Amino acid sequence: MSQRYELYINGQWQAPKSGQYFESLNPASGEVVAEIARGQKEDIDAAVKAARKAFDEGPWAKMSQQERSEILQKVASELETQSRLFVGLLINESGATLRKAKTEAFLCGKYLNYFAKAALKINPEESIENLSKPGVSENLLVREPIGVCGQITPWNFPLQMPIWKIGPALVMGNTVVLKPAEETSAIVLELVKLFEAAGLPKGVLNVVTGYGKEAGAALSQHPLVDKIAFTGSTEVGKLMMQDASHNLKKITLELGGKSANIVLEDADLDQAVDAALYAIYYHSGQACTAGTRLLLQESIHDRFVEKFLEKAKAIQIGLPEDKATDMGPLVSKKQQERVLNYIEIGKKEGATCVLGGNAPEDPKLTKGHYVSPTVFINVDNKMRIAQEEIFGPVISILSFKTPEEAIEIANDSIYGLAGAVWSKNDEKALSVARQLRTGTVWINDYHLISEKAPFGGYKQSGIGRELGEEGLLEYTETKHIHIDQLKARDKKFWYDSVLAPKQPVG
Ligand code: NAP
Ligand code: MG
Repeated sequence: MSQRYELYINGQWQAPKSGQYFESLNPASGEVVAEIARGQKEDIDAAVKAARKAFDEGPWAKMSQQERSEILQKVASELETQSRLFVGLLINESGATLRKAKTEAFLCGKYLNYFAKAALKINPEESIENLSKPGVSENLLVREPIGVCGQITPWNFPLQMPIWKIGPALVMGNTVVLKPAEETSAIVLELVKLFEAAGLPKGVLNVVTGYGKEAGAALSQHPLVDKIAFTGSTEVGKLMMQDASHNLKKITLELGGKSANIVLEDADLDQAVDAALYAIYYHSGQACTAGTRLLLQESIHDRFVEKFLEKAKAIQIGLPEDKATDMGPLVSKKQQERVLNYIEIGKKEGATCVLGGNAPEDPKLTKGHYVSPTVFINVDNKMRIAQEEIFGPVISILSFKTPEEAIEIANDSIYGLAGAVWSKNDEKALSVARQLRTGTVWINDYHLISEKAPFGGYKQSGIGRELGEEGLLEYTETKHIHIDQLKARDKKFWYDSVLAPKQPVG
């Protein structure tokens, strides 16, 4: 019998009001990993009310940054101690390869520690120096938590995305109701147990599992939620904005991408080939920053494609728990069908599929949701495979004549999440990087995300930033307090504008 997970509301594990559960499946074998509570509107309502009470009455928002930071640090160290459990769940529930799972589990502890410590450097209260004048006024800038944060996360980084949201929200004094992706709920509920054991007061963190259209929508529409933080598709991101508009919730969105990986003719080609493979095939292409559009300068195009294909053919597709596996399955049957459908679209649009394009035939893999590493050449940027997010191991290769043309192609997208430039000439690469309309640009690297640097998207890739100090400040309201030190009679402005002194009568 698989393990059953309940909802976590107000510090208690509770059955969903409907009494219904759904199955979380292993993407490589189709086996049931766990039974997950199907939370719905009434459960979200209970969770939001618990978070509201914990925020309004509880000690959490008023505790010192230091006290809150210590709880996060405890969780970070437990994540390390229990990393085997999390690595196992990342493999079984999300289909991550052993190597991806180990990196993700390790990074999560690092991120949490960063949030815990970086928050201590943010002053909850400081004087606005260029405004305060002795004898005239003292002006304070006060940073306060926003309140109840509704957080909705995807399945592709099922531990990391919740950590990026829960960490900053909690350390800055907010309370949280989180709805994880239905495919990867158990891992988040195991994370909750660490917060519970670290002594987090009840009601501060609540997790309601369930379907996006039920639990997710009830959370984003709830009038007692003050902020929504969402990572997922641009399509659902737009719904989040509509939902947030009812009571003007603060909102941060981390959405899709169609990143351009630009290789100039003076690049170190061998390194750029390896990076281009990593950029697209990491986690089977299920990364929002994936290098889905490879832009090659004409003079190196053919040589580059030849080297790329040779190495792409050597990518080992296999069971995720197998150490030798480079690429595992996609998260679900639905995702596999979506990717295979895009491959058909690419062929119909006239692009040439020179590798893959199907599910592998290896009998060991037929129960899983696999798609072989796929390469399209002769792609035009107007094609759907160059414009739409596929979220699978499919690369579209385009060519350009000049760096200016590369910039034009790269920016011709509704997305603006990330991108890369390859060149041995730093100045030239930097000039291209500056002209890309994206939130992150790598020069001679790919996928590198630092906890200290803000991450997020331009255009339809999102609103706001996560990580860095900016990411923490997204979970605060700023208040200005003006303490006046002038006597009322000195306030010329009052009298000039409204209270003009009356002429004595007679
Ligand atoms: P998704 O369909 O947008 O779902 C994301 C989350 O929203 C899930 O928890 C989902 O619940 C929930 N949801 C779905 N419909 C909803 C609704 N009507 N109201 C409220 N919540 C709703 O995305 P996904 O397929 O899970 O993840 C892949 C997408 O995420 C890709 O587009 C990718 O680029 C993006 N992503 C972006 C970043 C970034 O940082 N920019 C990072 C990772 C992923 P259910 O799962 O239960 O449906
Ligand atoms: Mg989904």
